[in-house]
Parts: sequence; structure tokens; C-alpha cells
Amino acid sequence: MGVPLRQQIAVGTYLLKQKLGGVKKYPMVLMLEPLFRCNLACAGCGKIDYPDHILDKRMSYEECMQAVDECGAPMVSIPGGEPLIHKEMPEIVRGIIARRKYVYLCTNALLLKKKIDDYTPSPYLTFSIHLDGLKERHDASVCQDGVFDRAVEAIKLAVAKGFRVTVNCTLFQGETPEDVAEFLDYAMELGVEGATIAPGFSYERAPRQDIFIKGKDTKNLFRGIFKIGKTRKWKLNHSSLYLDFLAGNQNYQCTPWGNPTRNIFGWQKPCYLLPDEGYASSFQELLDDTPWDKYGNSSNPKCAQCMAHCGYEATAVEDMLQHPLKALLTSIRGPKTTGPMVAEPTPKWAREELQTPATLAGIPVKVER
Ligand code: SF4
Ligand code: SF4
Repeated sequence: MGVPLRQQIAVGTYLLKQKLGGVKKYPMVLMLEPLFRCNLACAGCGKIDYPDHILDKRMSYEECMQAVDECGAPMVSIPGGEPLIHKEMPEIVRGIIARRKYVYLCTNALLLKKKIDDYTPSPYLTFSIHLDGLKERHDASVCQDGVFDRAVEAIKLAVAKGFRVTVNCTLFQGETPEDVAEFLDYAMELGVEGATIAPGFSYERAPRQDIFIKGKDTKNLFRGIFKIGKTRKWKLNHSSLYLDFLAGNQNYQCTPWGNPTRNIFGWQKPCYLLPDEGYASSFQELLDDTPWDKYGNSSNPKCAQCMAHCGYEATAVEDMLQHPLKALLTSIRGPKTTGPMVAEPTPKWAREELQTPATLAGIPVKVER
């Protein structure tokens, strides 16, 4: 775990308060998307296909602070689009830090060298740099040559200036455990605090659909990575049980309210990955009016392949709170990389299909499946 003790204690205290207060649905990380405009056009991006008048919109400083206050989560992740394009971003970051929230400013780093002096190192601020692999892999992933070198230069600069820096890596088709291991080795050598890794979510709106890893391939890839990781000292910014879930050893349902999203349209139902499910006008309305049961990998075909941390990290943390010994042992031993994986539940839509009598011209018929 790469997260500093101070932050772990702050988040742990927040979780304890929710538990003692009997709160059933509480947020852990606010996903604040104050703009969709980006200076890259990655093949797997589900955020940048909006028309120009949407891409030109920004959430104001006041709207961002209102979202942070309404939500109350102890951590705020600012993805985008590219947040460094937003002219008020230094002020927004200062406002969140003043509220003693931990900010993860997620950037592709192309503008970081130019803008870095707009920010001050703080235990509350982390630059989370988008890096999907080593040079060839990353430049292919972001569809532009030279981006890897500029991101690495920016990481070195930010580390040298005393900022907290992590890398966030999304895995796509064609990855091998060896490639990912080599990348994580390199990232650690850069002196970053930690890395997040997750399989790319198959956005319906992404320019390319053939790049996403699916189902058992994802779990086998993670098992391969973690097998190599047993002899390495990688700092992964995930709970031990989420990593175990990625390796196919936990059967979790997602907890999308754990990472609620506020963007230029409002509070997004149910999570930042599904863009067409509607918006709420307040955080409370999001909690009260979202049909949460409709979502999750066995409840909704749109969620079928999802293993994203915005849905399942909060589930893993909840499991950790209920089974601390299991979490501790998993943390000590690392995720299980051999043996059978947990069986996946039959998806709800497949069960409904099985229960619905088939008809031919209105006459019920028996179908051999
Ligand atoms: S850097 Fe991020 S927001 Fe920009 S195009 Fe790539 S994935 Fe999308
Ligand atoms: S499984 Fe959860 S986190 Fe993933 S897309 Fe569905 S609702 Fe969102």
C-alpha cells in the first residue's frame, strides 16, 4: 500500500464514523469532473466524444466546492478531460485542500511542466499521472508519439519539487504479465508513491472497442502480474481485497455510491463509467433516487465486464471492515495466484431469460438450451 499513514488514519477515522453512525451508503472518493475537454484523444476514452459546446463547458470554483461539501467524502479525485486545462484548477485544488480533503489530480501530464508552479506541495495533494505502460505501449494507448517521454519528464520534475506523485495505469488487450511487471518496476524507480492498475472499462463511446480485456482473461492477467509481484516491492494504491478480486478470488457486487461523480451535467447515475443513465441535481437526490439494484456485474449487461476500482474498491473496503483477519492475511500473503477462481453468479438478465417462456406466434414453446 503506497498511501501515507496520515491519510490512512484520516480515511479510517471517516469510515469508523460512518459505521458507528449506522450510515448504510457513504462515499469514499468524490469523482469531480469539472470539464470533458482534453488535449489527447485516447483510443479507450469514453469522455471526449461530446460536441464542442459541451467540451467547452466548465464547472466553476463555486460549483466544485459545493460538490465537495455536499458529498463529504474524505478524498477527491479530479479526472476529466484534462483538469490542467481548467483555468481555475489551482484555486479549486486550494479550496479542496483548505477543507482537509485529499486531492488526486489525474493528468496526462502534458501541461504539468508549464503549470507546476501554480501548485504547492502538500500532504493533501497528489498528481496522479496517466501512464498505461512503457514508451511504446503508452504512446500507442494515447495515440500520440512522445507522450510517454513528456509524462516521465513531468513525473521527475514533480517528485523533485516534493509533490506526492502516483501513476495510474489502465490495462488493455495484448498486455502480458511480464510487460506490466517491467512497467511497475520502472514506475517505482521513478520514485512515485504508488501505482493504481485497473482493466479498462469498455465504454460504449470509446473510439475503439477491440482493445478491452474481458472476463477470465482479465483475472488471468492479474494473476500473472501478482505472481511476478511476489518477488517485487511494488506499491499498489489498492486494498488487498480489491487486488484479490482482480485475481478472481472474490465474488463482489459493486458499490457505485462509494465513488459518486459530479460533472458539468450534475450528479451522474450510477457512476462515472455509464454516461446515459441520467443525473441528479444533488448528492442526496443521487443517493435517494438512483435505482442501485439495477447495476453491478450480474445485474446489468452494461456492467458485465466491469472490475473498475470506482465500483469495487469500496466493496473491498466494506469486506475488509467486516472481515479484518481475511484482509490482513491477504495483505501479508498477496492475492492467490493459483487454484480455482470463485464461480461467477449467473447474470440476472440470463436468469430472467431462462425463466421467460419462449413463444412462437404467441404459442408457448419449449426451447432446449
Ligand atoms: S488523457 Fe484521459 S481524458 Fe484525455 S483522452 Fe486520454 S483517457 Fe481521455
Ligand atoms: S459495475 Fe458498478 S462501477 Fe461498474 S459500470 Fe456498473 S455501476 Fe458502474
